[in-house]
Amino acid sequence: MAAGRVVASFALTEPGAGSNPAGLRTTATADGDGWVIDGAKQFITNAPDADLFVVFARLRPAPEKGSGIAVLLVPAGVPGVEVGAKDAKMGQEGSSTAEVFFRGVRVGPEALVGGDGEDGYRAAMTSLARGRVHIAALAVGCAQRALDESVAYAATATQGDSVIGDFQLVQAMLADQRAGLDAGRALVRDAAHRYVTGDDRRVGPSVAKLFCTEMAGRAADLAVQVHGGAGYMREVAVERLYRDVRLLRLYEGTSEIQRLIIGGALVRAARAEGR
Ligand SMILES: Cc1cc2nc3c(=O)[nH]c(=O)nc-3n(C[C@H](O)[C@H](O)[C@H](O)COP(=O)(O)OP(=O)(O)OC[C@H]3O[C@@H](n4cnc5c(N)ncnc54)[C@H](O)[C@@H]3O)c2cc1C
Repeated sequence: MAAGRVVASFALTEPGAGSNPAGLRTTATADGDGWVIDGAKQFITNAPDADLFVVFARLRPAPEKGSGIAVLLVPAGVPGVEVGAKDAKMGQEGSSTAEVFFRGVRVGPEALVGGDGEDGYRAAMTSLARGRVHIAALAVGCAQRALDESVAYAATATQGDSVIGDFQLVQAMLADQRAGLDAGRALVRDAAHRYVTGDDRRVGPSVAKLFCTEMAGRAADLAVQVHGGAGYMREVAVERLYRDVRLLRLYEGTSEIQRLIIGGALVRAARAEGR
């Protein structure tokens, strides 16, 4: 995987179990010294091209002690693994998503990540937090492009004898984009630093993802506004950016889920301190 020879997909989400993975219904049943996997996943990035699926499955019914959820590595070619048709998405055409079905899929004991199952689940949840820093950084890059396109357009496009960039209300849109961008970039650098040092691997990534993806959404929206009617046309870059950044607020935990993580952690910390 590290060398890029194996494409892997992270197969967590199911119908009715996206924001709340505890609701997932895919099962891994012990069979001899291996496992039999049954269930269906949806919206799985890279599924049509995947060589390997990182599959989240329930070892025992909820609720019991612990999550009861295990992580198993399932090669795409194993009998019973079936990938659905590519989803028709709003944007991000550079990657594909699809449903993935597991029907009586048999894997050996080596497929289970982390031994007792819970270790694999914990590691996967930690990787989601790390991924949130990445999504935040990606959002900052998209916002930078939205600003660059907006400035270039404002500096050259005209209405009558005026360059639109001379209108103060257009300058205000550029200023709002720039202020959000600078704040987001500083935040994501700080969150990444605190993730690497181990100071904060839970709340900081959520704060960065929440702020930066919402900021990128506003930046792309303003970019379309700066372009006027041209901003709604397929041939301009900001029209694509507008659709592409919409996803950032949805996957790897929606904005609402980030707010729950941040707010919940603040309240728990206050309780622990007896405040
Ligand atoms: C293009 C794309 C690629 C994806 N890639 C992958 C992938 O590779 N692997 C993978 O496993 N998944 C992937 N996903 C799935 C993605 O992570 C989920 O769609 C996302 O987590 C939201 O889950 P959901 O779709 O079930 O929506 P829901 O959880 O049903 O959310 C619907 C609404 O309810 C809100 N909501 C839900 N629970 C709460 C709550 N407790 N409190 C308040 N509000 C709540 C949400 O914030 C949202 O506004 C992808 C999705 C898309 C669109």
